[in-house]
Amino acid sequence: AQEQYASLRGLPAEALCGTRIALHMNAGLMADLPSLEGSGAEGVGLFRTELQFLVRSQVPKRDELAALYARVMEAARGRRVAFRTLDIGSDKVLPYMKPQDEPNPAMGWRAIRVGLEKPGVLRMQLQALIRAANGGPLTVMFPFVTQPSEFDAAKVQLSQALAHEEKMGRALPSSLEVGVMLETPSLAFAPQSFFERTDFVSIGGNDLKQFFFAADRENERVRRRYDTLSAAFLGFLELIVQRCNAAGTQLSFCGEDAGRPLEALAFAAMGLRSLSMRPASIGPVKALLRRADLREVREIIDGCIARGEENLRPALAAYLEKLA
Ligand code: PEP
Ligand code: MG
Repeated sequence: AQEQYASLRGLPAEALCGTRIALHMNAGLMADLPSLEGSGAEGVGLFRTELQFLVRSQVPKRDELAALYARVMEAARGRRVAFRTLDIGSDKVLPYMKPQDEPNPAMGWRAIRVGLEKPGVLRMQLQALIRAANGGPLTVMFPFVTQPSEFDAAKVQLSQALAHEEKMGRALPSSLEVGVMLETPSLAFAPQSFFERTDFVSIGGNDLKQFFFAADRENERVRRRYDTLSAAFLGFLELIVQRCNAAGTQLSFCGEDAGRPLEALAFAAMGLRSLSMRPASIGPVKALLRRADLREVREIIDGCIARGEENLRPALAAYLEKLA
């Protein structure tokens, strides 16, 4: 199978109906970057920046971060890398941060909430990214944005970082894409003007699912009760697709489910055109997409929904079996 995937490396993830799905990879370490060539990913759809903060005993220095981000961009050789600003709190606790003692850290003081209330680290990180871009393109993604005002406030931080770097005589990015991770249902219901002013939306399905179903992603017992391939969740994804399409905003999905072949197939059938996953999943997902007709998949999904079926997995698995 590995050889079969290798032979697909240079081919697009184009379904039989002609629809192309862009496949990107998730990364978080310098060591992940060589997979960009090997996997055939079009870029890095999610670069998790927490890891550099988690492995240290103190906050990393700005120049250290800038050097690391520059190496990541260099290794990507012009391909887009979506750098997600620090998503700490919740399951990721920094050794040098005062423990918050929150009863529900996943719904607590985390990610952009920390970045906006204590902006020191976010500002430093944004400056490091601008330095790393060194006059080239830059893509920044803010995690766990729950309402548009948080995106706007984060962009103010970014503007200030740009002004600061300019004053220091550094080259500003040749192009700047600024987007959000949609990880809470509330953001899907933001005013249309929000979708118009964000450059892109990336669905953080791991968190989005946990909040959609009110089922802790770390709790095996409750997590397994709820399937991504349910009429409810796929219907919700379609709503997000429609809102982004209406605004002409790029949309992708970067949670773990994007790398599961059946889920990827269903997402593509619901209108997603970009998926980001661990590098090893790109081959299998591409192989399946190239054998599938998304119109047929969509018909199956619509049929199940019309019949009031709660879980679409059996019908989609049967379609997959027929392809094999
Ligand atoms: C997600 O929530 O789906 C996501 C990609 O981010 P993380 O898993 O780092 O929370
Ligand atoms: Mg998340």
